[in-house]
Amino acid sequence: MDLNPATTTGTVSKLIQELSRLPGIGPKSAQRLTYYLLRAPNEQAKALAEAMINLRQKTQLCSGCFNIADSDFCPICRSDERDQSKICVVEQPQDILALEHIGTYKGLYHVLHGAISPTEGVGADDIRIKELLERLKGSQVDEAIIATNPTLEGEQTAMYLNKLISPLGFKVTRLARGLPFGTELEYADDVTLTHALEGRQEF
Ligand SMILES: [Zn+2]
Repeated sequence: MDLNPATTTGTVSKLIQELSRLPGIGPKSAQRLTYYLLRAPNEQAKALAEAMINLRQKTQLCSGCFNIADSDFCPICRSDERDQSKICVVEQPQDILALEHIGTYKGLYHVLHGAISPTEGVGADDIRIKELLERLKGSQVDEAIIATNPTLEGEQTAMYLNKLISPLGFKVTRLARGLPFGTELEYADDVTLTHALEGRQEF
């Protein structure tokens, strides 16, 4: 390597420092990744940097479901092959990835971007509940599947949503128990998630 240590030390440690702030990456992994990138082909390092910049500059929230999208509407909302009679309500965009990965659900989604948590000061107005109710009005939806995480916050949110949505005449279901309490949907394995979805029960 022909880099001058006197000028690169700061640059190298800056990347190590930034990487080690990422979830699941400790200082050792951050170091390994940094030195890997230092030796990787130029195009690879550049592609990674561009992807990271684009992630923030070229994405927005879908105007329909609040999933991450590259344009006004995400591919799921744009698709005419999705079952318009079902809407699956999740906490985070990555929960859609987990559910899409099992491949059996063909309905719509709605991303709340959080869960009600009085201890953390997150109220019903802080997540996309109003938007969900607006969306349900005049929609073709007949079943709302509440797929919030099986955590205290997720359960509270599910109960709250059921109280709001059931009286409007929609069938409201909840993912089956089987997902261990405290787990997050995005980390559930495919088999467990498939059973939870198939075994969903009405409130
Ligand atoms: Zn969408």
